[in-house]
Amino acid sequence: MDHFKLTDGILHAEDVPLPTIAQEVGTPVYVYSRATLGRHARVFREGLGELDNPLILFAVKANPNLAVLRVLQREGFGADVVSGGELRRALAAGMTPDKIVFSGVGKTRAELELGLDTGIAQFNIESREEGRELAELAAARGEKARCALRINPDVDAGTHEKISTGKADNKFGVPLHHAGEAFAELGALPGLALEGLAIHIGSQLADLAPLETAFGKIGTLLGQLREAGHTITRVDLGGGLGVPYRTGESFPSPADYGAMVARVTRDWGVQLVFEPGRVIAGNAGVLLTRVVRVKRGLNNPFVIVDAAMNDLARPALYGAWHDFEPVAQTEERMTANIVGPICETGDTFATNRDCPALVAGDLAVFRTAGAYGATMASSYNSRGFVPEVLVSGSDYAVVADRIDAGAIMDAERVPEWLD
Ligand SMILES: *Cc1c(COP(=O)(O)O)cnc(C)c1O
Repeated sequence: MDHFKLTDGILHAEDVPLPTIAQEVGTPVYVYSRATLGRHARVFREGLGELDNPLILFAVKANPNLAVLRVLQREGFGADVVSGGELRRALAAGMTPDKIVFSGVGKTRAELELGLDTGIAQFNIESREEGRELAELAAARGEKARCALRINPDVDAGTHEKISTGKADNKFGVPLHHAGEAFAELGALPGLALEGLAIHIGSQLADLAPLETAFGKIGTLLGQLREAGHTITRVDLGGGLGVPYRTGESFPSPADYGAMVARVTRDWGVQLVFEPGRVIAGNAGVLLTRVVRVKRGLNNPFVIVDAAMNDLARPALYGAWHDFEPVAQTEERMTANIVGPICETGDTFATNRDCPALVAGDLAVFRTAGAYGATMASSYNSRGFVPEVLVSGSDYAVVADRIDAGAIMDAERVPEWLD
C-alpha cells in the first residue's frame, strides 16, 4: 500500500498535488512519501514479530538519500552499506555503528579501515582473501573485527540474471562447499571475531521458495560449524523481497516472509539480521515527468517524456516494467511507446503500452521508482541529476537539489598543454 492517490482526479503524494511539485521544483523529479516509507518499515518489522530481537538494516544502495535514511533511522532501522560512501551517509543520517553492517565483494583497504575506525557492528566478509586482509588491519590495531562469512549457497533466486547473487557463478560470497574450511581458517585469526554467517541470493524475488531453500542450507551449515566447535551468534539473511511493479501483481508479504523465516530458523539460537531495500522504498517513490511531445510513428505514437534512462535506468538495464500513469485522470486511452530524449534506443520505458491518452505538456509518473531509481542516475547526454522531494502530509521539501549539466561541467578542465 502506498500514499500516491487520486483526489479530485489529480494524483497526489499524500496531501500534496503533484502539479504543485512539478511547478515549484520542475521536472523530472523524484517524489517520495514519508508515510509510505514509515508504513513499509513498520509492516516489515511486524512481519518479523515472532522473532526474538531481529536487527533490521535498510540496504542503503536502494535509496541513499539522507532524508530517506533519516525516516528509516527514526523507525529504528540500521543500515546495510556496500561502500565507504554509503557508510558515511548512514552515519550522517544518524544511524549508529552498532546498527551498521558492511557488505560488498570488493571492499578496499581504505573502506575496511573506515569500517574499523567507525566500529561497525559487522563486516560481511565475501572471501578468504578479504578476511585475511581485514584480520591483518584489525590485528595491527590490537582489535578484533566483528564479522560474518557470506556464503554463496548456489540457489537460483528465479529473478533477473543481473540481480541474482546466490548462484555458484555469481561473484558473491564463499561457495558453500568451501565454507567449513574458510570458517576454520578465518575463525582462527587473532584479528577477527568471526561469529556469523550471511547470505543474500538476489533482489526482486517473487517467490519465497528459493529463500527457504537457501536458508535451509545455511541452517545445515550452522549445525556443521557448531559441531566443528565454532561459535555462531548471528545470521544475516540479507534482503531480496520483491514488490509489485505492475498493477495487480501479487507478491509474498513481509508477514508471509516472516512466518517462513520463523519456521525455518526456529532452532538456530542466533540473532537474525535482515537487509531489506526494495520492499521498503520501491513503492514509496515515483518519478514525475512531463510529456515533451507526442510524435507520430509508423505504428505506435511515441510519447516523449522529459525523464530518460539516465534518470531511471531500470527499464534499460533489466527490461523492467514501471506503471506509467497520468497525473490528471483522463478516460481516453492510446497504445504508445514511451521514450526519453536520450540518443539511444535503449532509452525506452515501454513499448506497445496501453496508457491514457497524453499530449505535450501533460504530467505523468513512473510508479515504484523509490528504490534503485535516483541512486542509479548518471549524467549521460550531459543531462543533470534529477532532484528529489520528500512529502509528509501537506508538507514537502527538496531533499536533493537538481545538479544541472553546468555544475558537472564545472568539475572538468582543459589542460593548458592542449593549446
Ligand atoms: C542489494 C542488497 C540488499 C537489498 O536487496 P533488496 O532486494 O533491495 O531487498 C541486501 N543485502 C545485500 C548484501 C545487497 O547487496
